[in-house]
Amino acid sequence: MYGSILDAIGTPLVQVDSPEGSTIAAKLESFNPGGSAKDRPALAMIEAAEREGLLAPGDSIVEPTSGNTGIGIAVAAAARDYELTIVLPDTMSKERRRLLRAYGADIELVAGDMTDARARADEIVAETGAVQLGQFENPANAEAHYRTTAPEIIEAVEGREIDALVAGVGTGGTITGTGRRLKEEYPGMDVIAVEPEGNAVLSTGEPGADEFQGMGPGFVSDLLDVELLDGVEVVALADAERECRRLAREEGVLVGQSSGAASLAARRVAESLARPELNCPEAPDMSSMSADGGAEAGYDDCPLVVTIFPDSGERYLSTGLFD
Ligand code: PMP
Repeated sequence: MYGSILDAIGTPLVQVDSPEGSTIAAKLESFNPGGSAKDRPALAMIEAAEREGLLAPGDSIVEPTSGNTGIGIAVAAAARDYELTIVLPDTMSKERRRLLRAYGADIELVAGDMTDARARADEIVAETGAVQLGQFENPANAEAHYRTTAPEIIEAVEGREIDALVAGVGTGGTITGTGRRLKEEYPGMDVIAVEPEGNAVLSTGEPGADEFQGMGPGFVSDLLDVELLDGVEVVALADAERECRRLAREEGVLVGQSSGAASLAARRVAESLARPELNCPEAPDMSSMSADGGAEAGYDDCPLVVTIFPDSGERYLSTGLFD
């Protein structure tokens, strides 16, 4: 039995359909209490602020977010008794607004994108003295993934080598924290970032329209360790959405846009690493792939690509993504 909903943070790593001669495993972050990867940094940032004496129960928090961080903070704020105002771009899905309200957060909608939301949150901090956790700069964001996401992955692969991590970039917390820890364990691996075709700042240096929810903020955040990256895959929104429908209908994996993008990018990376001569299993459970688990010869050598699916497709039903 867990003592608190916050102790229930943690997710499964699940093999998805993989190109011949490779294995793709996706970390299904929708299994977290608040339904996304952002539960991890949300709690970590609050705990860091508590340790530094900046925050104590009853205080007010304000945060600009595309939604999932806000929901993660709202879960922790409800469980730990904080007042919370979320500044949200008005382009973000209705589910996000309703969920934030359900957890008792106040919402301020801002016309525009994340840059506008950040500017408005700074104003509220100046006016009210509320504490901003600052997910785009706060080292606790990436550290949360270093401390929790990556160790969970290492445990789940049961001794197999990981060849690549493929993850979308918003704040950069997920890829920086997870990638840093995994590279310590598997020094030869590649860390591959995913960004939207319409807003590919890492690839082109030019911001564009903010079309993915949660991914591609239109700037390179301070938190993103670009030195860690071995490559960048660019994915168009329409392709990512088609992949979401495929994952749901063919695999029973219901995920959001950025997961669809991560999946397509992971397939490209897996294809580039694939060793068809090894006869890698199409869809075994990971336990059958451990060194002594009775697996067929060669399974352990199948190139293994780990990717992160940050949230659930349920969060996008109102957008018509699955219609
Ligand atoms: N996808 C979604 C749906 C998200 O909410 C986020 C977080 N903003 C990301 C991807 C990117 O994660 P990170 O901020 O850790 O880079």
